[in-house]
Amino acid sequence: MTGFDDLETRLLIDGEWRRSLSGERFTTYNPATGDPVAEVERADRRDARAAVSSARHALESGPWATMTGAERGRILRRLADLLRAETDALVGLEALDGGKPVRATRRQDLPAAIDCLEYYAGWADKIDGVVVPARRDALTFTTRGPVGVVAAIVPWNFPLMNAVWKIAPALACGCTVVLKPAELTPLSALRLGQLALDAGLPPGVLNVLPGFGKEAGAALVEHPGVNKISFTGSPGVGRWIMGAASANLTRVGLELGGKSPNVVFDDADLDAAVRQSAAGVFFNAGQVCSAGTRLYVEDGVHDEFVERLAARAGALVVGDPLDPKTTLGPLISAGQLDKVLGYVETGRREGAALVAGGGRVGNRGHFLEPTVFAGAGNDMRFAREEIFGPVAAVIRFKGEDEAVRLANDSPYSLAAALWSRDLGRAHHVAGRLRAGTVWVNTYGHTDARLPWGGHGGDSGLGRDLGEAALENYTETKTVWVSLARPRAEAPRPEALAA
Ligand code: ADP
Repeated sequence: MTGFDDLETRLLIDGEWRRSLSGERFTTYNPATGDPVAEVERADRRDARAAVSSARHALESGPWATMTGAERGRILRRLADLLRAETDALVGLEALDGGKPVRATRRQDLPAAIDCLEYYAGWADKIDGVVVPARRDALTFTTRGPVGVVAAIVPWNFPLMNAVWKIAPALACGCTVVLKPAELTPLSALRLGQLALDAGLPPGVLNVLPGFGKEAGAALVEHPGVNKISFTGSPGVGRWIMGAASANLTRVGLELGGKSPNVVFDDADLDAAVRQSAAGVFFNAGQVCSAGTRLYVEDGVHDEFVERLAARAGALVVGDPLDPKTTLGPLISAGQLDKVLGYVETGRREGAALVAGGGRVGNRGHFLEPTVFAGAGNDMRFAREEIFGPVAAVIRFKGEDEAVRLANDSPYSLAAALWSRDLGRAHHVAGRLRAGTVWVNTYGHTDARLPWGGHGGDSGLGRDLGEAALENYTETKTVWVSLARPRAEAPRPEALAA
């Protein structure tokens, strides 16, 4: 049914597949049909404790603790190879469990996950310190060691890719990990756990804990044995996590929501702008934290842009995610469909003009027509709040200053884009947009080598990816080796550290 004869649905703790201590399980459903896909063990607080102590043990003793960076890198590379070899099955699994169209997952999620593993495999033996010549009578230098046990808590929109974004740098740095996949999409994370064992990762280095946010997730956040929480999800949960983490002063990285502005100037290449702006809204059915759903279009091209965007929305192929022709899959759940339909209603009530879509497709699964509203305003709720569905709000503007003012008037700051043939203007406006990533004349790219994260507010803090992510998973140590001669004077008391 899942494409795997032997897909594990138990908890991965200490290299073993275990039943949950409570004996409870939960069901995952196919978003395209509403049918059940699998029964998965449901971890609770006690299982979380077992997973953290397994990760702690693997961190401090056993083969992982003494492995060289080069050896860690080799394991990450083997894991990348195993993902590559299993691409078809994993793409299918993401479609069944998460409603993600196979065509897009094959092009994006799997290559990105594999590339991310290989990129951090390359870093694993290059995590070094510096010699700082602070004194003549001492050799003073820094080293960088693993931060410790990492709780990686990930959402359902890119289940495998997001897990890898956290696991790959954490393992490269020598950390051990407890991965908590989203309760709506646990299956690919479980498969990743098996592949990591097959790649030679020692027991306990990667534990996989399917379960609910308020149970397994919260238990990890509150556990004093966790050294770093790396979370991707909603701003509300991110806020709670930051508060709860303060009890143990656990480090947090939070990649949260988005409602990204996409600014199209009069002098844009309109063909490219329409094509990629549509992808920026509708990719993954809009369930993307960097979706470009606030579309600011300059007066001179506004009407043509709206017309062409609506036509493009209408041309998307809505349907079964397993069909390679499908370009727009279902929303993740009935609850999400209701929420998005609620926002469509809000847009109507607030006076925006519906120019494409707006309705549910069929009565099986959670499909929504790709939807475009024109005549939106920055003060409208549906144009301000993150919808996480295929809904665009087009807002008219005139001139650079107005574009920047409107684009920056948002609690979110994950990403932004602009379209212009004027290179000077493009650089200038890119500098003024408040966002962790700015795309110029394109939309939506990420790369393992480039840092990714919010510029504060409801988009969160910290960076995944790039060299920057190594900071998340390492701790710097200063080492002071006295070079004083045996008969040198003892240090004066005031020179001793407090
Ligand atoms: P979304 O709106 O995308 O579902 P959530 O923030 O609810 O985002 O969920 C993202 C991840 O966070 C999921 O793995 C979920 O189980 C987990 N989660 C939800 N609530 C909590 C919590 N209180 N503590 C820890 N993890 C949580």
